[in-house]
Amino acid sequence: METQASDTVTDSHQTQCCIVGAGPAGMVLALLLARKGVQVTLLESHRDFDRDFRGDTIHPSTLEALDQLELADRLLEIPHGKLEFMQFSSNGTTTTVANFRRLRTRFPYVMILPQARFLDFLAEEARQYPSFRLELGANVQQLVQTDGVTQGIRYRGLDNAWHEVRAPLTVAADGRFSKIRSLCGAEPIKTAPPMDVLWFRFPRRPGDPHDQITFFVGGGLFVFFLDRGDEWQVGYGLMKGSYSEVKSAGLEAIRENLVRLVPWVADRVETLQDWKQVVVLSVESSRLPTWHQPGLLLIGDAAHVMSPVGGVGINYAIQDAIEAANVLTEPLRTGQMTEAHLAEIQKRREPAVKAIQWFQGLIQDRVVKTALDKDRPFRLPWPARLMLKIPGIRDFPARMIAFGLYRSRIKE
Ligand SMILES: Cc1cc2nc3c(=O)[nH]c(=O)nc-3n(C[C@H](O)[C@H](O)[C@H](O)COP(=O)(O)OP(=O)(O)OC[C@H]3O[C@@H](n4cnc5c(N)ncnc54)[C@H](O)[C@@H]3O)c2cc1C
Repeated sequence: METQASDTVTDSHQTQCCIVGAGPAGMVLALLLARKGVQVTLLESHRDFDRDFRGDTIHPSTLEALDQLELADRLLEIPHGKLEFMQFSSNGTTTTVANFRRLRTRFPYVMILPQARFLDFLAEEARQYPSFRLELGANVQQLVQTDGVTQGIRYRGLDNAWHEVRAPLTVAADGRFSKIRSLCGAEPIKTAPPMDVLWFRFPRRPGDPHDQITFFVGGGLFVFFLDRGDEWQVGYGLMKGSYSEVKSAGLEAIRENLVRLVPWVADRVETLQDWKQVVVLSVESSRLPTWHQPGLLLIGDAAHVMSPVGGVGINYAIQDAIEAANVLTEPLRTGQMTEAHLAEIQKRREPAVKAIQWFQGLIQDRVVKTALDKDRPFRLPWPARLMLKIPGIRDFPARMIAFGLYRSRIKE
């Protein structure tokens, strides 16, 4: 894993923790370590945080954690949306599957804020701490390893030169296509979700629905609309592997299907005119059997890619970061970190990840598959309909989405 002779490293910098990827996981971990005086270098390949849509949700558990840091009220001052219900609508019947209003928390809703704005807010906060260093445009390409122990990374900077960061701990928070995961040879256990999603945008108009996300289901299709202020981010579900068939049927077929399922979009479907407006998300779900190696920890999507069911990836990535900070702050500060500390983080987080992935698998098999089968009329399965009527357990889906199996709290 050494650089080529022609790729001379122009500078090397020593820190206590090197984090690769300034998404929700990397940014929150960097902030939590820096505020406790741990020297952190956070490396991000993009020049800023404004990139393709990857979810704008900030869940109650994250708001509770920010509240512990006395940041929640300031974050809530930024103009945002609130999601209070998650619903299914099919054949004229609408069923609420998650009512966040009933949760016992100061924040009984999912806050909707463009992710770039959220990351900017956290970066601004972290910059107040002298032990925090953020390098944008730092594309990490290599691990520095000696005798199987990771001792840092090498990245290409905006100047196109090689730079090195050395640290007793490198954290891979570099997302679903993690470079570090492939460099260290970690192999995820994969499952096969039955769907893919097409993403595109429509204008949002006064009088459109708000405070809710509704999955419109029927005729072998499901569609949902995410509120992004002046526009809708539209998710259009399709059976895995059917993209070329859908593409050859053309955009006109998509527009017709949308109007059939969701009549109020008839006045704007014509804005969808070109396949360049459409992004295909190949839905994946996987998790690493082991999240660590000597000197290296993987968290967030780098350790477990989440299915989009329930929109929980950001929440789980942030909870990984909170537990990582809880376990690592002292050992990093005192230079006493061992691999047992890294194993402890996996031990704390893995049950929650396994539980939500099991739950998502169940929904994919019992709900999404039926929704995408055009030969079967869609109805929520009876155990789900029954569960949603019983006080005490009817809020299980809302709790799993809002908090996960348990709430991670920041250790003071
Ligand atoms: C289309 C789409 C919609 C989604 N919608 C939702 C939603 O509504 N709600 C939800 O909770 N989740 C959603 N998710 C999932 C969510 O985006 C992820 O689960 C979450 O972002 C994971 O956070 P992370 O910090 O682990 O990784 P990421 O957010 O992926 O961050 C990784 C960071 O690492 C950087 N990086 C990658 N490689 C390198 C490198 N070599 N060097 C330096 N930096 C690097 C990337 O640029 C990125 O900034 C969605 C995902 C997609 C793709």
